[in-house]
Amino acid sequence: MIRIIFAILLAVCMSNASIAAETTPAPTPAPAAGASDAMTVKRLEAKDWCSEHDLPKDSCMKCDQKLIPAFKKKGDFCKEHGVPESLCVQCDPEVKKKLDAMRPLKDEKAK
Ligand SMILES: [Zn+2]
Ligand SMILES: [Zn+2]
Repeated sequence: MIRIIFAILLAVCMSNASIAAETTPAPTPAPAAGASDAMTVKRLEAKDWCSEHDLPKDSCMKCDQKLIPAFKKKGDFCKEHGVPESLCVQCDPEVKKKLDAMRPLKDEKAK
């Protein structure tokens, strides 16, 4: 009989110990590195690029002023620099990376 009680006591002690182990903070997994915008941008073809203004042609409102109202409507217009806000390097230097990723490669142009 004493043996059984002893065994139960031992079991209780063991379970307490395991609970204590579980409550110790586990190392938090490092957050997955989010892919940056620059990596998800598709490189455009030379014909879709305005080399004069260094912008995608379909976003170059310097060449095509008809684009301006649409971008203004979207709230994506930098009136200071006359380009879409999302592509305004002067307002956001980070945009340069995006443009670099979109800009057609020189080799393609030469073909
Ligand atoms: Zn242009
Ligand atoms: Zn700007």
